[in-house]
Amino acid sequence: MALRTDIAAQVCAHRGAILHFRSDPGARDDPASFEFLEDGLLVTRGGHVAAVGPAQELLPTLPADVEIVGHAESILMPGFVDTHIHYPQTDVIGSGGRQLLDWLEDYTFPTERRFSDPVYAAAVGEFFLDELIRNGTTTAMVFCTVHRTSVDAFFHSAAARQMRMVAGKILMDRNSPEYLRDSVSSGEQDSRELLQKWHGHERLSYAITPRSAITSSEAQLQSAGQLAKEFPDALIQTHVAENLEEIAWVRRLFPQARSYLDVYDSYGLLRERAIYAHCIHFDQADRVRMAQSGAAAAFCPCSNLYLGSGLFDMAAADDAGMPFSIATDVGGGNSFSMLRSLGDAYKIAQLSRQHLSPLRAFYLATLGGARALGLEDRVGQFTVGAEADFIVLDLRATPLIARRTAQSRTLAEKLLVLMALGDDRVVSHTYVLGREVSVA
Ligand SMILES: [Zn+2]
Repeated sequence: MALRTDIAAQVCAHRGAILHFRSDPGARDDPASFEFLEDGLLVTRGGHVAAVGPAQELLPTLPADVEIVGHAESILMPGFVDTHIHYPQTDVIGSGGRQLLDWLEDYTFPTERRFSDPVYAAAVGEFFLDELIRNGTTTAMVFCTVHRTSVDAFFHSAAARQMRMVAGKILMDRNSPEYLRDSVSSGEQDSRELLQKWHGHERLSYAITPRSAITSSEAQLQSAGQLAKEFPDALIQTHVAENLEEIAWVRRLFPQARSYLDVYDSYGLLRERAIYAHCIHFDQADRVRMAQSGAAAAFCPCSNLYLGSGLFDMAAADDAGMPFSIATDVGGGNSFSMLRSLGDAYKIAQLSRQHLSPLRAFYLATLGGARALGLEDRVGQFTVGAEADFIVLDLRATPLIARRTAQSRTLAEKLLVLMALGDDRVVSHTYVLGREVSVA
């Protein structure tokens, strides 16, 4: 406890260029939507944001003994928020040559089987969290496996690192290998017990996690909806409208449903803080329904391209008012890097004759994700009192990035270089609750 008290009292200040968002910059880069300080100061106390503003203004207000950490040629911003990722798929990333359904069968399910072993689950969980930190991701919404051991192992590791994480046990009682199935009653009981154990513990939140409408029976979807009703502050995560073969299968299983999304809707699984991964093959009625319900999409650019499932339509989402965030979807996505995800999001916009402004991209990767998860008062922006999870992006991370950022005239140009050329090499420091946690 003595250590915690010391940290609680500790004041620290970080000096450098600072960027954070107050709202979605939209297509026109609304200047009121973000704050950029060329020579800024971020003051943290006890792991929370105590002040942010121009260095010249804030420096004289600080006690003389406060340590000032300088970050030249860098941009400080809130840590990235990845709203859809599978920690058990760390060891299938970069496997492929197949589309979604075969990829699951050939690579993912056999790997997920190993997570019944708590020692194995803990080892992968530790590697996974290191990888998130290396890439500047301080909050993520995480799929575990069907095994409750996989959830316990993950949350134990995240709690030990004091990270803000959301995760849940997969519910899956059909159309998957026998060895990975739960049952309606065991899935319900495990989810309830894990939720009661972990939701609100330290910085952790629980998400009710039906894998998909294909792999959960109607009875299991009903039970998930029942749990959601019983625990209104729990999050919900699942997959929807990712791949055309998958959608055709859903149509055969639920002929009465208007659409894939409508299946979840009919079981009460659409609401605020429900994250629907992919939402690629939606019609406008689906998008409008998402917007009405308060649920948010997770746009997974690397995964759209790597599995070849299709291209998320940002303009149609905006037209319908459907909120979306950015996610890596490891291991369907081929990178842990949110910077690479933003680069791929940019390319998907280009292929679709749309445009993703760099400012909006960084909003989506920080405050946009936090909002989707209902965590915007805790992370994703530098409001006073927010948790001090932040990263330092090095504008000289590689010779090429240094050369290109030196030639960039505006903030937007610099950000675009980081999206187009950047990855984990750009993230020079990661801080969680004001403490540096960077890994080698
Ligand atoms: Zn996924």
